[in-house]
Amino acid sequence: MQGVGFRPFVFRLASELGLTGWVRNTPDGVLIEANGTDERLAHFARRLRAEAPPLAVIASLIRTPLPDDGCEADFTIRASASGAGLVDIPPDSAVCGECLKELADPADRRHRYPFITCTNCGPRWTIITATPYDRPFTTMARFPLCPACSREYADPHDRRFHAQPLACPACGPQLRLLDQAGKLLCDDSDAALTRTIDLLQNGGIVAIKGLGGYHLAVDAGSEAAVARLRARKQRDEKPFAVMVPDLARAVALSLLDDTEARLLDSPETPIVIVRKRHGIPVAEQVAPRNGWLGLMLPATPLHHLLFKEAAFTSLVMTSANRSDEPIAYRDADAFTQLSGIADAFLCHNRDIHIRTDDSVMRVFQGRPLFYRRARGYVPRPVRLPFDAGNVLAVGAELKNAVCLTRNDRGILSQHIGDLQNAETCDSFRHTIDHLQTLLEITPSKVACDLHPDYQSTRYAEERGLEIVRVQHHHAHLASCMAENGLTGEVVGIIFDGTGFGSDQTIWGGEFLVGGYDRFDRAAHFRPVRLPGGDAAVREPWRMAMACLYQAMGRDAFDLDHPAARQLNGDSLAIFMTMVERGLNSPLTSSCGRLFDALAALLSLRTTVSYDGQAAIELEALAETVDDNDSYAYAASDGPSLVVDFSDMFREVVRDLAAGAAPAVLARRFHNTLATAAVDTCCRVASTTNLDRAVLSGGVFQNRLLSELVYTGLTNRGLQVFTHRLVPPNDGGVALGQAAIAGWQNRREC
Ligand code: ZN
Ligand code: ZN
Ligand code: FE
Repeated sequence: MQGVGFRPFVFRLASELGLTGWVRNTPDGVLIEANGTDERLAHFARRLRAEAPPLAVIASLIRTPLPDDGCEADFTIRASASGAGLVDIPPDSAVCGECLKELADPADRRHRYPFITCTNCGPRWTIITATPYDRPFTTMARFPLCPACSREYADPHDRRFHAQPLACPACGPQLRLLDQAGKLLCDDSDAALTRTIDLLQNGGIVAIKGLGGYHLAVDAGSEAAVARLRARKQRDEKPFAVMVPDLARAVALSLLDDTEARLLDSPETPIVIVRKRHGIPVAEQVAPRNGWLGLMLPATPLHHLLFKEAAFTSLVMTSANRSDEPIAYRDADAFTQLSGIADAFLCHNRDIHIRTDDSVMRVFQGRPLFYRRARGYVPRPVRLPFDAGNVLAVGAELKNAVCLTRNDRGILSQHIGDLQNAETCDSFRHTIDHLQTLLEITPSKVACDLHPDYQSTRYAEERGLEIVRVQHHHAHLASCMAENGLTGEVVGIIFDGTGFGSDQTIWGGEFLVGGYDRFDRAAHFRPVRLPGGDAAVREPWRMAMACLYQAMGRDAFDLDHPAARQLNGDSLAIFMTMVERGLNSPLTSSCGRLFDALAALLSLRTTVSYDGQAAIELEALAETVDDNDSYAYAASDGPSLVVDFSDMFREVVRDLAAGAAPAVLARRFHNTLATAAVDTCCRVASTTNLDRAVLSGGVFQNRLLSELVYTGLTNRGLQVFTHRLVPPNDGGVALGQAAIAGWQNRREC
């Protein structure tokens, strides 16, 4: 991998061991020729693995003996072979320990310098404009190195040897602070920093430029400051991420396990969603009605400096955007997009070339479960279990990410967002162009969703390439198979919000059997009306009434219930016509909509302001109790098994009337869904003679449900595979599409 200091490391190690030879990058990886005694060579191979620089990942090490034909006199770093730019472009990485020491050292020439970096840390992916990864092809090109920096850059023994983003206060980027109107307040780094801290301490909202875009920052301990931010961002109830200065502070706010602590403190510095402690000094408005908190450690030297001299110990650091827009990353756009939200802007003159959000994850079974895969992980490739050739997959419509393949590697882009937004759509096109150029990949095929109206599908049609249309849940299945290195056939439990089915109805509670080349819909949830189409997604009470109507007919409308009370007179008559005649009410077998219906029935949510909100709150509620009971459900026979939850809905209504605690009902709903999933999957597995199951789809972001299904299936003797490298939600769909299209390539050659 380039830009992670691997070649200088090899150089130093070989020199230390007195070996001669060379090291260079090639399109297939790093190639080293080393000459010396057997003992020293064995030593060299062992230490290559053991002492590799923190950002280097050694996937495999292959040794071949060479004839002794009078070799080099010393050890050198050779120029990269042509096409070596394709090997791997490194992801962005948090500032390293050595740089932090220098940052805090008054004697160091980079003392308090917000752009300190070295070969082991700093921006990469977000500043690269072209390949090879070399300073002129980054946004650092405009900063010529000063003599002191040049010396470090050229010295193989220096930690900053060939560190492309290398800089110092004499030659590198500087901070500036601007007011709401874009008027310059401070143009020197120290003053800008002091003033920013002052603003934040006094409840101000500051837009701060990070690695992949702007954050909106406020003191997370101040109810008033957080409330102001909520009010200015409008209608948005999404939980805010919180940055804390170090792991000790994270432990003070949350109950961390080892994996969560390790992930928080990793060079990728993702947002990790962790269990909140009670009575912590973090404003309730940060994550309303939520037992969980998204925490993140400082990623840049600037973040560290913010905490160093300040009175606050936690900062809200939320993506700087208006509700549906993508994160602001260009200085000029930030002013337009965030005017009226931020009180001031902490900017700098190192441009961000490609917008990249923070990554978001939870831990499941001791491994990361991605909600959003972006900064720190992109463009690290996912290894496929076969040679897929060169394909482009354009993903779905919401939570879009795209994927390119080069042989057995799938390179998934950063999270791009919801393509219904015009600016996000531009970002989508830009990302595809950028990735194709950087990776020098010319796709032979383009894979897209079966949905004819997705923006991504339209783009795929414009490309003029051979097009492979992939059913949404088949792509989910293939995505989980691909990242787990599986081939052959599996049973896929795909629980999702929405996806266009092969029969043109909306799917989402699916049991599929298949592999990369085909699938059968072995079982599915009984379809229910989606009254008002998209309106039913925003207003879960509609789903509650549709499910109740299906379970108990017109009696549903006589219930004394908050969901039923949404309707009266005319609206009741219209609604009844809709569900009875299917007027503007398509059928859906969605699993996500069942969560919506339950959340509305339990009076948690009659409407939602962001995708998945009802499900998140329902899970949070269910987690507060321990209960093993579940409700009845029915499974019909037939060519395709149908799982019907009407019994459950009737029982929920009965329990509610009897005054049962909503938390218990929420828990029993999770138990019921898990039981239905496990039983159905096992039935399908035994009729098809399969013993491997994959779990995918957005609903599997739910940790409780994932846990119950995983344990249930494992206890019944199935081998269960879940996502750990890419999100189970639509952010992982492109990888599955790519695998399916790539499998066709494999067959053809
Ligand atoms: Zn460093
Ligand atoms: Zn310098
Ligand atoms: Fe999906």
